[in-house]
Amino acid sequence: MGSNELLKEYSPYLEYKDGVLYFDGVNLQELAKELGTPLYVYSANHIRDQIRAYKEAFKDALIAYAVKANFNLGVINIAAQEGCGADTVSGGEIYRAIKGGIPADKIVYAGVGKTDEELRYALEQDILMFNAESEMEIEVLNELAGSMGKKARIAIRVNPDVDPKTHPKIATGMKKSKFGIDIKKAFEVYKWAAKLPNIEVVGIHCHIGSQLLDLSPFEEAVQKVADLYQKLKKEGINIKYLDIGGGLGIKYKPEDKVPTPKDLADIVLPIVKDLDVQLILEPGRSIAGNGGILITQVQFLKDKDDKKFVIVDAGFNDLLRPAMYGSYHHIVAVKENPEKITCDIVGPICETGDILGENRTICKVNRKDYLAILSAGAYGFVMSSHYNMRPRAAEVIVENGSYKVTRPREDWDYILWKETV
Ligand SMILES: *Cc1c(COP(=O)(O)O)cnc(C)c1O
Repeated sequence: MGSNELLKEYSPYLEYKDGVLYFDGVNLQELAKELGTPLYVYSANHIRDQIRAYKEAFKDALIAYAVKANFNLGVINIAAQEGCGADTVSGGEIYRAIKGGIPADKIVYAGVGKTDEELRYALEQDILMFNAESEMEIEVLNELAGSMGKKARIAIRVNPDVDPKTHPKIATGMKKSKFGIDIKKAFEVYKWAAKLPNIEVVGIHCHIGSQLLDLSPFEEAVQKVADLYQKLKKEGINIKYLDIGGGLGIKYKPEDKVPTPKDLADIVLPIVKDLDVQLILEPGRSIAGNGGILITQVQFLKDKDDKKFVIVDAGFNDLLRPAMYGSYHHIVAVKENPEKITCDIVGPICETGDILGENRTICKVNRKDYLAILSAGAYGFVMSSHYNMRPRAAEVIVENGSYKVTRPREDWDYILWKETV
């Protein structure tokens, strides 16, 4: 397969022109020279297309972009421009989503450990609904809402006990996980919650996991949730919102075959067609994942026995997924070269696990050349840290040949903020 054909499967906005890699019309060699590295680059057009694919497939559904996947204000703002709501998992994310332009009445809020302060903030903002994860949370929410003279709209996050067949660390809808309320018990909890004075039961929520490439777990979960809806209806509890979460997978490995929002709709819509609900979806990874890449610069080359190391300036402090989940990220040179090398691409962090790509065949690179790490738009920058006192990368949005830096590179003093001896 020609290199451009493969790149297009990651993003139609990623291509080599005259031997140099471009993203959404921007020359990445020049961009990296201008802004320095490590550099996260997000394609606005890619993100817009993904959102539009969901909207087209699901028509009247609310697409609540899961901001934890990529909470850059510029990215959130693109989602806002496209009419999205937001799925949030902390008070800070609600704050960010609103700053990014998402109307509060399109924000849903999940998470097993919401603090009083966060719950109060969300009540003040009058968000669309709380996706409540335990009875105790509902009790506290009832009290807090009462003390503020408000009513809290809730969905109960049910745990449908299905195996999403994904990485165990991102499987959330199995019985043994900490998330949600067991679906068998949920009916009783609904009946109890519906009687609380400061709670308005409006929805059912489930989110079974992330990076799902097989759609059958979705089918199983949505069917269980639809059955619960009918059972509640018979009981006189009318559900307005059916929130089926996020989780659609993206292409990481060159051989990955990935379902589209349309494929998901083909499975979900027939199950819910007779229910009188507004559907809510919470895609994160599938919106932003292949809309982002991480550009890094080669610092040194090193030969050891029969192994070659390409040492770059991005480490697991910038992109944690390979070290944390053993994830594969495809890596390509920003400048094409007919000569190839096979190497390990490693970061500067003082841990052996700081490997971004193992045993990869890439275009031959020299000191100061750039590499692009693909599929880095989701769970990339947001999981970055200051480990080893490394400032976090800059973030830039590219669109139709121009760019804007939406988060500048940090420096050492930024990391030392308010710290004292
Ligand atoms: C993480 C998360 C999502 C988004 O998952 P993706 O796999 O990125 O689509 C949606 N809903 C909830 C509750 C989440 O925790």
